[in-house]
Amino acid sequence: VSESLLQLEPALAQQRFQELGGRGFHARIARAAVLERGLLDYAQIGSLPRSLRERLAAQLPILCSSEVARSSSPDRAIKLLLAFPSGRSERGPGTVETVFIPRRDPSDPRGATVCVSTQVGCPVACPFCASGKLGLERNLESHEILEQFVRARALGPISRAVVMGIGEPLLNLDSLTRALDVVLDEMGLGQRKITVSTVGFPERVRRLAERRPRFQLAISLHTPFDQQRDTLVPAMRGVPIEEVLAAGDHWFERTGRELTYEYVLLAGENDSQEHARSLAKRMAGRRATVNLIPFNPVEGSPFGRPTVQAVARFQGALESAGVVATVRWSRGVEAQAACGQLRLRSADAGAARIP
Ligand code: SF4
Repeated sequence: VSESLLQLEPALAQQRFQELGGRGFHARIARAAVLERGLLDYAQIGSLPRSLRERLAAQLPILCSSEVARSSSPDRAIKLLLAFPSGRSERGPGTVETVFIPRRDPSDPRGATVCVSTQVGCPVACPFCASGKLGLERNLESHEILEQFVRARALGPISRAVVMGIGEPLLNLDSLTRALDVVLDEMGLGQRKITVSTVGFPERVRRLAERRPRFQLAISLHTPFDQQRDTLVPAMRGVPIEEVLAAGDHWFERTGRELTYEYVLLAGENDSQEHARSLAKRMAGRRATVNLIPFNPVEGSPFGRPTVQAVARFQGALESAGVVATVRWSRGVEAQAACGQLRLRSADAGAARIP
């Protein structure tokens, strides 16, 4: 597998450009064109000499991933299924999803949100998630995480990022941090515009808070009841919710940044008024937002999507108890491309290949 431009540290990239007959500053121009403007073809970088562009195109690919499938929904969200060559294993190429989510209002000049993955497969195995069904294959390398941002940037300007795709980010933190450093320093996203979502391993959250990372944190809770969380978030079995919340408090104390608690609403499972009341009690006195995410049904899933009314009742119960609660209807459902589904369909049935 040949190395890609984004895989090389800037100093090495300069050396490689020189080997190919270019100058050091040409490497800087190319890197900026890719990261800042999302150009994925040397032919588009007019400020490089033509002969160098041709040699680069032949010998130093910009990215190492290939796009194996793409689905878009009527609301203009675009989901990419990307394959990474280094991830080839007995279980097939390592594939992850990246989603480009434009602003709801097309006249809104602000950029889109990108949702990126951090692992091939996921070890957490939430029963309602298609990605967890395949288990963990491997961690993504930092340049593979970075490529997802670049592929999204190639679709349009981006101004927010959520690390909520496939995988548990805190289990691949070093690679993620290295990728985010580039995103922050060279792609121009602000620290407060990047949210990393975890299931909230208490020790890891505490250690992370000490490192003062340059992003916001979200913890997926999904239920206020310990026993139910053991089944909804199997990797956290036996970890009391109070410990997770205490780690979240520690994060807030150390970083001064408020947390978001994510809560996937599953019809008839965790969307009752009793759940809402208990959740409100857990949240009492905490400076945090609860983000409700009505479930996207997966084919063959035993879980269902709550009605609009059930979601409103749940949100209302939280708000009347003084808890700040927002609702995120996830997008892309129309294209049957909810979290993890594109990847599963490809693995099972062979999705349409886009060269
Ligand atoms: S919901 Fe997130 S943490 Fe759970 S299995 Fe899916 S990708 Fe992993």
